[in-house]
Amino acid sequence: MDDRRRLVPGTDTVLADPRIAAETARLGAGLVKDTVRAVLQECRDGTVPLDGVVESVLAALPRWATKLRPVVNATGVIVHTNLGRAPLSTAAREAVAVAAGATDIELDLDSGRRGRRGASVLQALSRVVPAAESIHVVNNGAAALALAARTLAADGNIVVSRGEMVEIGDGFRIPELIESLGVDVRDVGTTNRVRLDDYAQAIDGNTGFVLKVHTSNFAVQGFTSAVDTSELASLPVPVVADIGSGLLQPHRQLPDEPDAASALVAGASVVTASGDKLLGGPQCGLLFGTNELIERLRRYPFARAVRVDKLTLAALEATVTGVTTPVQNALHRTRADLCARARHISQNLPTALGAEVADSQAAVGGGGAPGVTFESAAVALPADLAKPLRTASRPVMGYVAQNRLLIDLMAVDPADDQIIIDTICGLPANGRGAQA
Ligand SMILES: *Cc1c(COP(=O)(O)O)cnc(C)c1O
Repeated sequence: MDDRRRLVPGTDTVLADPRIAAETARLGAGLVKDTVRAVLQECRDGTVPLDGVVESVLAALPRWATKLRPVVNATGVIVHTNLGRAPLSTAAREAVAVAAGATDIELDLDSGRRGRRGASVLQALSRVVPAAESIHVVNNGAAALALAARTLAADGNIVVSRGEMVEIGDGFRIPELIESLGVDVRDVGTTNRVRLDDYAQAIDGNTGFVLKVHTSNFAVQGFTSAVDTSELASLPVPVVADIGSGLLQPHRQLPDEPDAASALVAGASVVTASGDKLLGGPQCGLLFGTNELIERLRRYPFARAVRVDKLTLAALEATVTGVTTPVQNALHRTRADLCARARHISQNLPTALGAEVADSQAAVGGGGAPGVTFESAAVALPADLAKPLRTASRPVMGYVAQNRLLIDLMAVDPADDQIIIDTICGLPANGRGAQA
């Protein structure tokens, strides 16, 4: 054992190897050094052979300088919050790369003077939502709502239906978010019913606006009544509509999902939405509205604290001007196509796995179209493959139902079908796994 320890090379020797030095230049010294130390320890412990230390380090190094990895979303949830919500289109990914260096985000190259930040994305958005006199972009949907509340109702109150007091996820609640900004939240009506008069009676001289929140992650059924934006617009204060999911225009497949254009036409003074749900873009918050109110929001000091970055603006511009988004593509997939893909994948897997095509139900997820499901198809596998597939070098995330692992293809780009096949075939044959 001691002999072996003496033969183990020093950290600096390994770091000096040209192949390792190249990785240091690419990934950074800290990450590479940590990996070298870990491999050398395994070498001393005898779990890694003495010859080929460099090869072992190279194999252990991550491909990128982030521990984040691309994951195949086979959950059947199109906008999956834990998987980063909307995947970006190729056009949006390319736009991010373009904006990554120095870029004219706030410079008018013609005049050489300072320009309006993100002017081109604002133009692109206003072409899609002409009903918006003015548009502003912030970090996320919650920031958009917070900016509206802070600017338009500071030290006052807002009025909202009790049935729209939404918890958006991870324990965050819209009323608590607004109250944390020093704005009083007055809820009116009951869980299931509210009338225009309830709002009218709650409004006083300190009311900044009436808030209409889309109940984006639940649905109340039965004896219910709500007040439409068009009716709320008759009240003596502005209406702010938080539509959540970020549709810019009505969507044929999702008739109950609100959209920015319709909310403005119905009389909302300000509409807030997320960029990374049904819009299919990067995480951001969109504010559409009247010139007067949007300009007030834009100039309010708190606006600087939720300023959106250049990568996001670039991706957003490509999303609203460019090709259809992966979210759109997913919504358009038919069960017949998905079945054919599931059959193709199944036929290319080791027969010992007993893979078969199964019916599956997909959903929008991530705060959109609650209760709406789509007929989808999946590859059914033994449930104990869930963890090995999740932890593979190219993770595939499915879901377990009735003791089977379902690889739902609704949210999977067809180009990734081969990755699914390769990942499953590459699993170590641990008892029942795939034979190489
Ligand atoms: C998702 C959602 C939010 C929060 O938006 P983020 O972009 O996640 O900050 C707010 N309101 C509604 C109705 C939503 O659906």
